Amino acid sequence: MRRIVVALGGNAIIQAGQRGTADEQQANVDLTCRQLAELVAAGYELIITHGNGPQVGNLLVKNELAREVVPPVPLHWCVAQTQATIGFMIQQALGFELQQRGIQRSVATLVTRTEVRPDDPAWQDPTKPIGLYYPEERAREIMAATGQVWKPQGSRGWRRVVPSPDPVAIVDREAIELLIASGAIVVACGGGGIPVIRRPDGRYEGVEAVIDKDLAAALLAHELRAEALLILTDVPNVMLFYGTPSARPLQQVTVSELRHYQAEGHFASGSMGPKVEAAIRFVSQDGHRRAIIAALDHARDALEGRCGTQVLPDNELRRVITTAPPS
Ligand code: ADP
Ligand code: MG
Repeated sequence: MRRIVVALGGNAIIQAGQRGTADEQQANVDLTCRQLAELVAAGYELIITHGNGPQVGNLLVKNELAREVVPPVPLHWCVAQTQATIGFMIQQALGFELQQRGIQRSVATLVTRTEVRPDDPAWQDPTKPIGLYYPEERAREIMAATGQVWKPQGSRGWRRVVPSPDPVAIVDREAIELLIASGAIVVACGGGGIPVIRRPDGRYEGVEAVIDKDLAAALLAHELRAEALLILTDVPNVMLFYGTPSARPLQQVTVSELRHYQAEGHFASGSMGPKVEAAIRFVSQDGHRRAIIAALDHARDALEGRCGTQVLPDNELRRVITTAPPS
């Protein structure tokens, strides 16, 4: 079967403007899973991964508000908890969609650890804002009491920042392979995976960090030797000159061209940047692969090359169209 890693963005679970109640999240996941079921019905072998930013954010709020009542849990526990909850929603929805189509496959979620390096430069420079906004004074109190790093985030106040180290290995890869071999559709590595570092005695230890889900998806797809990485998000294409009057979509692009545009600064660091980097990493590791960045509601058309941004290996000769820097 044709093995595909699908990375679901935030809009697969919570739509813009929603509060994110359990019912809202399940309803969104239901719609998402119709798209995914179409891929399964078309004969693709899926490994599904997903973001968890808003869900972890909510758990951190609960941590803070309940601090005097129940002990706060570490950030990597929050990742584990959201992997379970989101995986559960996908099992519910995708299980039903497959049943409706007469497809007998189980859907299994694996609580997945992702290894990061203790010497990753990200530890020196925490950049990823998470959780509540607080006034400076309160933020400074928390920093003094806990050793956390908080930074000003404009008019809304201060926010905790954590490192976002590069994923280097999917610790639970073998378990994922076993589940795939058993015929299951696997949900794994949610939220980029639970960040762990390997101690000299071989033990893995959870760490206070978050791993970018797109970069983790690229690593997962590489380790599982997938033929394609399908990154589904809330825009139909990667754009050049995004947000300007000269914006234009990329339809087919080679890795080298995409690197060139990346260096020109077309892709925002907290959003499209990691998707583009993930696509580049995955496709450049082996000449037969493809990455697609596309809108969630066109999953199958995107996977079959009819829409989205198709990132191709360099041996697919193409012409560089623009070289001007974004305004
Ligand atoms: P996800 O939850 O799917 O990871 P993100 O919000 O992180 O979604 O990334 C998708 C967003 O990236 C789009 O909604 C868009 O606003 C933004 N974006 C930034 N730069 C670009 C670009 N060059 N082309 C397209 N979208 C871009
Ligand atoms: Mg994102």
